Amino acid sequence: MHPALTSDLARLPDLLQAARDLAAQELSGLDERPAVRLDQAPGPEAVPGAGAGAGGALARFAERWAPGFSGSAGPRYLGFVTGGATPASVAGDWLTSAYDQNASGAVGSWAAALERETVGWLRELFGLGDAHSGAFVTGATVSNTVGLAIAREWLGERLGVSVSRQGAAALGPVEVLSGSPHSSITKALSVLGIGRDRLRRVPVLPGNREAVDVDALDAALAGLGGRPAIVVANAGTVNTVDFDDLRAIAALKERHDFWLHVDAAFGAFAALSPAHAPLVAGLDAADSVCVDLHKWLNVPYDAAVQFTRRQDLQIAVFHNASPYLGLPTGDPDFLHLTPENSRRLRALPAWFSLVAYGHEGHGEIVERNVALARELGARIESSEGLRLLAPVRLNVVCFTLDRDPTQERVDALSRAVAESGETFLTPTVHEGVPALRAAFSNWRTTRADVERVADALAAAREARRFPV
Ligand SMILES: *Cc1c(COP(=O)(O)O)cnc(C)c1O
Repeated sequence: MHPALTSDLARLPDLLQAARDLAAQELSGLDERPAVRLDQAPGPEAVPGAGAGAGGALARFAERWAPGFSGSAGPRYLGFVTGGATPASVAGDWLTSAYDQNASGAVGSWAAALERETVGWLRELFGLGDAHSGAFVTGATVSNTVGLAIAREWLGERLGVSVSRQGAAALGPVEVLSGSPHSSITKALSVLGIGRDRLRRVPVLPGNREAVDVDALDAALAGLGGRPAIVVANAGTVNTVDFDDLRAIAALKERHDFWLHVDAAFGAFAALSPAHAPLVAGLDAADSVCVDLHKWLNVPYDAAVQFTRRQDLQIAVFHNASPYLGLPTGDPDFLHLTPENSRRLRALPAWFSLVAYGHEGHGEIVERNVALARELGARIESSEGLRLLAPVRLNVVCFTLDRDPTQERVDALSRAVAESGETFLTPTVHEGVPALRAAFSNWRTTRADVERVADALAAAREARRFPV
């Protein structure tokens, strides 16, 4: 054994303790860590020859790289939709690495059974029934891709071809309809050989909405002349967190032949709040569902879950059986369901967090985040110089400069806020107007943080002499 390995093996508990000490110190200071680091990272060094041992690696990391890591796990990082990591989920994540199980299948370990238990819990939290099976994947983009891959196989079934055997070309042009799809949908269509250009935007409801106009969708489906299609419904859009009427869309199946995929990456968490659960009513009618977990469940990257009612088609797409064994039957191993064969047990952090905080604790995070988004919304509404671009429907505040919200001025405001280190917001364009988004999805965020965010916005406007 290499001497560095020998010595690390002998000192393993001490090394884990040292890593734990650094993590504890960094997490204790997370509240004051700059939300983002905008300065230049160090350049790459030569590959180490002799090896410094784990202690040396830890010291070098702490000195050279750790200072440049962002506070994205902290309470005032409001960019994109970025969850943090609950204490229990961090512990679960560490143990995932310590046990280093390959969750590809059931052979020789209970790890896959733990993933099944966790998927079952998530299914229940989101109001899905027994007909939905699920599996962990790395993020909502992959969850959407897997859902649409199953949809593609279903189209083949309807048209009498096997896409998994003959390829996507056997389908001819595919119809994909959606109101306000996330950018990952077009990426998935590219990966799947359906093509980015096959996504057809259906009109959304009037009156500053991002939810699809179901009558327009009905008409668009009627115009397909009976050809089966894929409908991507959106439960939680990123700008204004609008929700398609899932029940009304599902009811269109009585007249039209389509696969219903729901991108509920973070919107599915509305189900955890009794007041907001009606937003996702009808989710169970979906043929496939995407839910991210590293966002609003607040588990570390990378984790999402994908659900489907047609596991048989999923197996046709993803199975890894030798041809002479045929398709897997019964309760198939995960390697027959997901893009990966070998897989990290990424269910364990979610399992830990659900055991630690339960339905109620995770519901409290959702409700608190929504209340805080409303509070920031109210402050912006009453502030001079800023205005909301949409009502705060759930956990995102979409706003812009009151006067002259040009791209240049909104970018300058965004930069000034980021430079303050106090908070981080991401720019967007809503209905043609350059804007900023503040997305609340971190378990640590409190009212005091909303105040600091509002103060940071005011200070940034003052520094840049935006009209107040
Ligand atoms: C974040 C998000 C995605 C993509 O999620 P990743 O985890 O970044 O892959 C897809 N859809 C919606 C609605 C999202 O908010």
